[in-house]
Amino acid sequence: MRTPRAALADLLAGNRRFVSGQPVHGHDVTAAAASASGDQEPYAVLLGCIDSRVPLEAIFDQTFGSICVIRTGGHVLDRAVRGSIEYVVGQLGVPLVMVLGHERCGAVAATVDALRSGPRPGGDLAYLVDEIAPAVVEAGPDDPQVHAVAIRRHVLRTVRALRADDLLAGPVAAGRVDVVGALYDLATGEVTLLR
Ligand SMILES: [Zn+2]
Repeated sequence: MRTPRAALADLLAGNRRFVSGQPVHGHDVTAAAASASGDQEPYAVLLGCIDSRVPLEAIFDQTFGSICVIRTGGHVLDRAVRGSIEYVVGQLGVPLVMVLGHERCGAVAATVDALRSGPRPGGDLAYLVDEIAPAVVEAGPDDPQVHAVAIRRHVLRTVRALRADDLLAGPVAAGRVDVVGALYDLATGEVTLLR
């Protein structure tokens, strides 16, 4: 079983392979690779945005069975997401949780628009906006840099929420599990940890 530190190192090494254009698994998206995966032994669970430009298995050069991926608009947490992460950590023994934001996030932009002047969106899109709104308020909705600042704050707020989760707080305090935040650069493909 990997330590949280080793899991993070493996994940970031995969991103470096992706960025360098030399992925190990990038070419291996075949049914044969899928069937060879056998039982799953993932070492990380990633919560990312639904953005079509940010396919998590690809940008970390991962293969079948290596990571669990959860994607929601603006990587918003809800009960299904929490339950999924609790399952992966508690039942599969995964030592690392990563929350990955990205620049030019449409969900953050929709939240900025709603807070600046626009109407609150309808339906359950309003739920996403409400969940992202505290980060945009912290960043200052009228600040010219609000999008870039708010995504960082939203990632870190999500990390804090997960660290305080009922079933995750104990393993995190004991050092068996880590929850980290990171940002994906759409231009370079690089993932940078947020502290
Ligand atoms: Zn997004």
